[in-house]
Amino acid sequence: MDSAPVVRCTSCGRAVPAKGATQFPCPSCGEATIGRDARCRDQSVPYRCPKCGFEGP
Ligand SMILES: [Zn+2]
Ligand SMILES: [Zn+2]
Repeated sequence: MDSAPVVRCTSCGRAVPAKGATQFPCPSCGEATIGRDARCRDQSVPYRCPKCGFEGP
């Protein structure tokens, strides 16, 4: 079985296909993975790290 990888957008909480999303480690703690979909990236919706609370664009 092949399921498309999904990324949970940290900004809006939606699960989006990994293809159209960006994933990167938290720039502050480096432990949590931040996910962002194209829409939130485009509109520069801020995200908050679930681990350390770091907020960034
Ligand atoms: Zn989003
Ligand atoms: Zn963090």
